[in-house]
Amino acid sequence: MKAKKINRRKKLRRYIAKYKEEHPCIYCGEAHIGLLTFHHRNPEEKRLLISHVPRQEWSINTLKKEIEKCDVLCVECHRKVHGTESKVLLEEKINV
Ligand SMILES: [Zn+2]
Repeated sequence: MKAKKINRRKKLRRYIAKYKEEHPCIYCGEAHIGLLTFHHRNPEEKRLLISHVPRQEWSINTLKKEIEKCDVLCVECHRKVHGTESKVLLEEKINV
């Protein structure tokens, strides 16, 4: 049981990392996955911060749907989009 949970989390993290590898920042092209974040195009559609996903019991499909609503932005460009909302930025940063 426990091992299964960890595997699912690993899978989610791996999926997020792979997605970032394939999707550099849409504004400046930054490709370092440690600097990439997910930005919800429509904040009202935001169900949950993707950075929290690996700790949740999400399926890959649910994660995919959520990622489809997002643009990949690097930390710098994300900061510009959100202006002074740096808190949002930090929450969305995903450490993989
Ligand atoms: Zn950028």
